[in-house]
Amino acid sequence: MKSFVYNGQPARVVFGSGTIARLPQEIDRLGLKRVLVLATPPKEADARRLAGSLGGAAAGVYAGATMHTPVSVTEDALRVVAELKADGLVAVGGGSTTGLAKAIALRTDLPQIVMPTTYAGSEMTPILGETKDGVKVTQSSPRVLPEVVIYDVDLTMTLPASLSGTSGMNAIAHAVEALYARESNPVIDLMAAEAIGALVSALPVIAEKPHDRDARSKALYGAWLCGICLGSVGMALHHKLCHTLGGSFDLPHAETHTIVLPHALAYNAPAVPAVMQTLRAVLKTDDPAMALYDLAGRIGARRALSEIGMPADGIDIATDRALANPYWNPRALEREPIRALIARAYAGERPR
Ligand code: NAD
Repeated sequence: MKSFVYNGQPARVVFGSGTIARLPQEIDRLGLKRVLVLATPPKEADARRLAGSLGGAAAGVYAGATMHTPVSVTEDALRVVAELKADGLVAVGGGSTTGLAKAIALRTDLPQIVMPTTYAGSEMTPILGETKDGVKVTQSSPRVLPEVVIYDVDLTMTLPASLSGTSGMNAIAHAVEALYARESNPVIDLMAAEAIGALVSALPVIAEKPHDRDARSKALYGAWLCGICLGSVGMALHHKLCHTLGGSFDLPHAETHTIVLPHALAYNAPAVPAVMQTLRAVLKTDDPAMALYDLAGRIGARRALSEIGMPADGIDIATDRALANPYWNPRALEREPIRALIARAYAGERPR
């Protein structure tokens, strides 16, 4: 067996259905008296109901969380934290809400309880990406790791079928790249394979029956494990491409991941035969990249970057940017094949 380093991130996880009822106990456990409940604007009413149910333990609600964690929003929220003398944060939402909690924790060290409502996985990572003056800067710090994560499948039942599918594919991308990460190790490999299996079986069911609680539980379980993968090992070409494309053309996060993943995997496949063997077993197919492309089709996701707002002249721009400051990748990055990969993803063609 090869030598390895396993870097576990500390987290207390409560998982199940109806686990939101455990929130008061978890607040008590952390010794908090005045938590601030965070949410996105569309989820403000839910956040207010939740804060109301906490009685005196809730200091108030801040429902201004938005994509890519703008520093201006964090500064606004910090004013509210100070005004209300909040001593802890409760984030209910997807990666955007979790990002705001992490950004506040970075600056205040306030304890966080996160209740994820999508499959993005940010709650399991020490990573924070923030945007200032249109530039996204990512850092990693143990200060931003939530103290407690409460996964309540009930909170995910309202996630629209389309967003569930792409959010789940976004999660699968974390696990796929963890399998061939430079820091890959047998513990993370186990979680990655388990996670991909859970999500691949759950997502088509959710696409047809968004209220299927078993499929929702399986997907949330898989997303949790994918978050651990993302937080434990480095990501490679796929994530670099998605960050480049998302940042350059303001493309939607989860949909971009969904479209790019089959192509990035096809590119890396020749360099990672053992990983492809694992994926063939998990996906029960000879062609894992094609299986992920087909899965995107089955869940009704768009498969062309041209359909989600990328301009045609973006292919060369994205190629240049993807090759500048590249992440470590198992296969050397070659300009023409990378350009061809982006062009195929742009057109929605099959991966090869
Ligand atoms: P999101 O949090 O922006 O949510 C998308 C939309 O769905 C929002 O309008 C939200 O209100 C709504 N929504 C969320 N949950 C819902 C539910 N259960 N029912 C109905 N509507 C719901 O999207 P996301 O994909 O979860 O997160 C994306 C963000 O997270 C990006 O900014 C990304 O960079 C970040 N992210 C960070 C990490 C990390 O480790 N730092 C990891 C993954 C994603």
